[in-house]
Amino acid sequence: METLTHPLDLSTREACVAADSTDSLSSFKERFILPDGVIYLDGNSLGPRPVGALERAQQVIATEWGEGLIRSWNTAGWFELPVRLGDKLAKLIGGRDGETVVTDTTSLNLFKALASAIRIQQVDHPERRVIVTERDNFPTDIYIAEGITDFLNSVAQETGIRYEVRLIDEDLSLEQALDGSVAVLALSHVNYRTGAMWDMTAVTAKAHGVGALAIWDLAHSAGAVAVDLNGADADYAVGCTYKYLNGGPGAPAFIWVNARHQDRFWQPLSGWWSHAKPFNMADSYAPASTINRFLCGTQPITSLAMVETGLDIMLDVDPAALRAKSLAMTDLFIALVKQRCASHPLELITPRDHAIRGSHVSFRHPDGYAVMSALIAGGVIGDYREPGVLRFGITPLYLGHADVWDAVEILRDILDTRAWDKAKFKTRNAVT
Ligand SMILES: *Cc1c(COP(=O)(O)O)cnc(C)c1O
Repeated sequence: METLTHPLDLSTREACVAADSTDSLSSFKERFILPDGVIYLDGNSLGPRPVGALERAQQVIATEWGEGLIRSWNTAGWFELPVRLGDKLAKLIGGRDGETVVTDTTSLNLFKALASAIRIQQVDHPERRVIVTERDNFPTDIYIAEGITDFLNSVAQETGIRYEVRLIDEDLSLEQALDGSVAVLALSHVNYRTGAMWDMTAVTAKAHGVGALAIWDLAHSAGAVAVDLNGADADYAVGCTYKYLNGGPGAPAFIWVNARHQDRFWQPLSGWWSHAKPFNMADSYAPASTINRFLCGTQPITSLAMVETGLDIMLDVDPAALRAKSLAMTDLFIALVKQRCASHPLELITPRDHAIRGSHVSFRHPDGYAVMSALIAGGVIGDYREPGVLRFGITPLYLGHADVWDAVEILRDILDTRAWDKAKFKTRNAVT
């Protein structure tokens, strides 16, 4: 068996309980509502409900909508909500005021960022026509890059100009992928499957070194790991609010744009909310000079309002304590699984090195789907990702070391008894 060092005595649950008793973040658990009998290890996919979300929804629906009606666009601050929330969110990702909006989906925001970056390159360096991303990236990131190149190429087909997507994989390193033909490097900071994290500052510098712009997808970073977009001199960033930021199912995403790029060109989803004066109802487009340029149309106010309840919790958290607890608990989870489930075919695919690890841990198992289904039936909610990956989000605000211990014990029991080996655990749901 592999020797593992961990600061806690891993032979009993008591050491975990003791670690929880001195945890400076333990009070945050009271700010979320979770059902009894559940150990929730999927806050990286859908964060739980913040205390206050229901009251806020009630207020938006009954008072602001019900009583205020259309007046609430002015009187309840609805119109400014995407920018006001953007400024709050910016504090978690190293943004300054006026650089971020909460709006649309991560996929749509990535489209806007890619289109803007390509537009800048078209004018400054038209020979740069490659979008570099990773084969292992979240699929939507690859699909959006493919969609934008397909559109550009179909429009330019008479000219012979060709855009292309180039994928980093086991045969093509980041360094090999980056050359003078690259317009933009678009990566996920933390990999959704493995939890591996890029060094944002170093990679952005490499992209800039060949003249490429750098776009970061922070879906598994915002609210999970330290991010300093201005410190890293990034160009654009996008990300979700429904994962570690606990904004609610399908809550609007965000886009951050480095101030140096904001008023260079339009982004092509140039809807009226991105206009300099939307209510002038002008018959032609004039982009806002501010970050409002990255909005498109009317925003989902009820859902946006939920984002604020999650952000307000996160803004009370000491980021250093958050990261320290995340690393302590992911270390603990890895060590316990390795030790207590040693006889089972679980392969760790998350990096051991703290510098390159996000806040979730993934193990591959030949019957991963059935094992995860049985775990969920047993009250431990993680999720499953192809191929064969059991994914566990380790979120410090509402989980303690004892929860990690208990989750591993339930996993061990399911593996030891082969409780997963039943037909009912092998039928796929639409969402895994
Ligand atoms: C979750 C996730 C998304 C989701 O995008 P949506 O447009 O919100 O569906 C995108 N990118 C990454 C890296 C993700 O992890």
